Amino acid sequence: MILAGAILILIGVLLFVFGIRQQDLPEPEPVSPTLYLEQRKARIYEGLRDLQFEYRLGKLSDEDYQHTKLELQRELAGVMAEVDGLLPKEKAVEPRTPVPDPSNQCPHCGAHFEQAMKFCGECGKQMTEAAS
Ligand SMILES: [Zn+2]
Repeated sequence: MILAGAILILIGVLLFVFGIRQQDLPEPEPVSPTLYLEQRKARIYEGLRDLQFEYRLGKLSDEDYQHTKLELQRELAGVMAEVDGLLPKEKAVEPRTPVPDPSNQCPHCGAHFEQAMKFCGECGKQMTEAAS
């Protein structure tokens, strides 16, 4: 009877604690919506590390290890997908067409060159104004 009472009290305390904790949990900051996910990601990584550690110590069977690892990896993939969905999509960069520099244009044949040149590569005439 005493044991049953103790268990009931324990359950009551646990419910109380979890009930309060759920309410107290802060909403993820709107400023950084991915912060919460980053923390979850970090926790999963930690879990994976612990898992590997325990496996190496021989505390886990192959099956348990693989199973838990797979579960954690699946959770991680879910978090990653959520982060991806929250991050602003990169704007498609419009290919900028280089504006032709008029000083790089041959005044004789009209050919454009990427660099200013003394003599036109097309017609061979002098491109730069003979300013003397
Ligand atoms: Zn030319």
